[in-house]
Amino acid sequence: MKNLVLTAFCAVFIFSSSGANATVQVVTTTPELAAIAREVGGNLVQVTSLAKPDQDYHKVEAKPTDVVKVKNADLFVRIGLDMDQWADAVNNAARNPKAQPGGVGYVDAGRLIRKKEVPSTNISGASGDIHVFGNPHYWLDPGNAKVIAYQIDLGLRGIDPKNAATYDANYARFSAQIDQRLKAWKQELAPFQGKAVVAYHDEWVYFLSQFGLKAFGYLEPKPGIPPSGSHINNLIASMKSAGVKGIVVPSIYPTRFADLVAKEMGGSVAVVPYSIGSLGTTDYFNYMDAIVNGFKKAMQ
Ligand SMILES: [Zn+2]
Repeated sequence: MKNLVLTAFCAVFIFSSSGANATVQVVTTTPELAAIAREVGGNLVQVTSLAKPDQDYHKVEAKPTDVVKVKNADLFVRIGLDMDQWADAVNNAARNPKAQPGGVGYVDAGRLIRKKEVPSTNISGASGDIHVFGNPHYWLDPGNAKVIAYQIDLGLRGIDPKNAATYDANYARFSAQIDQRLKAWKQELAPFQGKAVVAYHDEWVYFLSQFGLKAFGYLEPKPGIPPSGSHINNLIASMKSAGVKGIVVPSIYPTRFADLVAKEMGGSVAVVPYSIGSLGTTDYFNYMDAIVNGFKKAMQ
């Protein structure tokens, strides 16, 4: 009898002390949310992103293994604004009450974001436009990275209250680091105030407004619609009359359209990381470094 109790005790002890069970499981829809969750969760969390770097976040094809990941998640973090609508099917199939909207472990990171380009008229998406609830690319503004981190902090406190002080401290450290780096990024882009660039996809409105820059136009005629010959020709004509030369293309998109325009204009194409994980980037800071450098290159 004594042995049996001891064996049971040991089994419980081994089970509860194993790292996998002690760690809070965080599942995010994108690598950027995952990187920010790692900053706030530190070594108390294990983070997985459903979308891989350089996958178009507008149209990820979910896999059966994604359902298992969400099933085992303590915290589920998403972009919202219908950017990651593909995750709804995964979440429904996982049947994890914590990860469902309204659940203790559900974080819609778009909730507290001040949204831009919210359509004033009803657009259905039938025209191919994929930004029907406003522009969802808000994580490209470092200021919004802090808002995302804050919401992840709240989520982690909710599911793991005993470590609330650690999550708060990690959030405060990340937030202070962003403030510090933001000053440097602003200095680097200060000489280009008011300048305009051409981008591939309409994803820079948050970034541009943070840094006092402008978008002149996009290689896509509408968000999600591939470039066409007539659109590119019109764009070249208007770039010529406005004297705009710089083009920024995230690593996920083909550069042939940009190269064509640049050749015509004598301008330069800057390829920037689409994801944290693209072009060797590993965290929010070196990702934003690469993006800021890319915009500098395009505008020089
Ligand atoms: Zn988009």
